[in-house]
Amino acid sequence: MKLTSFGAALEVTGSQHLLEINGKRILLDCGLFQGRRKESFEKNHTFGFDPTKIDAVVLSHAHIDHSGNIPTLVKRGFKGIIHCTEATHSLCEVMLMDSAYIQESDAAYFARKHPNTALTPIEPLYTQEDAEAALEHFNGKPYNKTFELIEGVKVTFREAGHVLGSAIVVLEIEDKEDGKKKRFVFTGDLGRKRLPILKDPYQVETADYLMCESTYGNRAHEPIEESLPALARVVNRTARRGGKIIIPSFALERTQELIYSLHALIDEDKIPKNISIFIDSPLANKVTGIFKKHAELYDEEVRSQFKGIHNPFEMKQLKHVESVDESKKLNYFIGPCIIISASGMCEAGRIRHHLRNNIEDPKNTIAIVGYQAENTLGRKLVNNDPAVKIFDEMFSVKAEVVVLESFSAHADMNDLDDYIKNVKNMKKVILVHGEIDQSSVLAERTRKNTGTETIIMEPQKAITL
Ligand SMILES: [Zn+2]
Repeated sequence: MKLTSFGAALEVTGSQHLLEINGKRILLDCGLFQGRRKESFEKNHTFGFDPTKIDAVVLSHAHIDHSGNIPTLVKRGFKGIIHCTEATHSLCEVMLMDSAYIQESDAAYFARKHPNTALTPIEPLYTQEDAEAALEHFNGKPYNKTFELIEGVKVTFREAGHVLGSAIVVLEIEDKEDGKKKRFVFTGDLGRKRLPILKDPYQVETADYLMCESTYGNRAHEPIEESLPALARVVNRTARRGGKIIIPSFALERTQELIYSLHALIDEDKIPKNISIFIDSPLANKVTGIFKKHAELYDEEVRSQFKGIHNPFEMKQLKHVESVDESKKLNYFIGPCIIISASGMCEAGRIRHHLRNNIEDPKNTIAIVGYQAENTLGRKLVNNDPAVKIFDEMFSVKAEVVVLESFSAHADMNDLDDYIKNVKNMKKVILVHGEIDQSSVLAERTRKNTGTETIIMEPQKAITL
């Protein structure tokens, strides 16, 4: 059996790993590489393998860096089935259509700006039609029910506790080449214990090969228990000043965690009961709708807290903003309020309008709740730049900027150590989805803690298992 990574090797984006077993090819994840425009287009446009020769895809979760290049795969001739959990299937229906819309508008914008260039991509990577065609290949499966993927390979999805529908993929393989049975486990993105809404990650007990993410292999998060009090302090401080709280947020999971957290704080009288909360992102609103339909995936805490009385995602203070006109009206809203909008790193979407309109007023607060990649507007705010460019215009940052780190949905170094230590009989630990300074330190600790051979996957370099 052979394993090759075509993305998320020594990096955290574009997750794609190819398993070759008994003459068949299984692709684990088919994520979009996200980075600078030209490099992204080139990387996403072609594959390091022949899509027509892939027998099946197994998808760990709906985040675009894991699922977002599936429409290209299908466009290039993939004919098989894409297996994932039921919630991941529902989420991909909205996430992939949204991604296609972004690809189309981005290409149209670029074509308008650079009408005479022959070197740059003008065609969208894929269209909404391509995304629709790709969705025909999806097959959602329940958690914890083993199914046969191809002859000699069985798959079970276990809770990863990272986002709704996220799975740890357990493959039981009969390798005909050496006649051995092998248990290969792919963590996908691993969540954290006690994360709001979701159940804790399922602890896999045994694995011959553990392919584990390493995003925060060398960093510890603030404890989850800090997230609610920290959010309450920010809301109260800003409300006392009569200001607005602007929160750039990812549409999937972070927005729903914020709604849940604000709901809990209102119920417990920890923040003003009359504060208005606007979710200004049509995608986030669609995703919240999917959360409402999957109450069976909530953890015990949410179920008992909200049992029978109300849904965690419904409260009178909450308003879902859909149209551009409604979004613009928020500029004239008087008094304290909370505006949650996408994109999460402030690089696109309606959040940029809210930042432009609110960043120069010291009464307001910009609360950063997610990872901000280098060179993004979000990162500049985190770095406390005194002035930032929005829509080609410079603005002084006079609003308060706070970073609420405890909201991360990824396992940190301690969670990863604990998880790996509790897996028995490992022959090899394979690290992916991490930059080298994170993966190498985790590799070192894993060797010390478990005595298991630990390798860091390199792009397009096959290993034999
Ligand atoms: Zn993820």
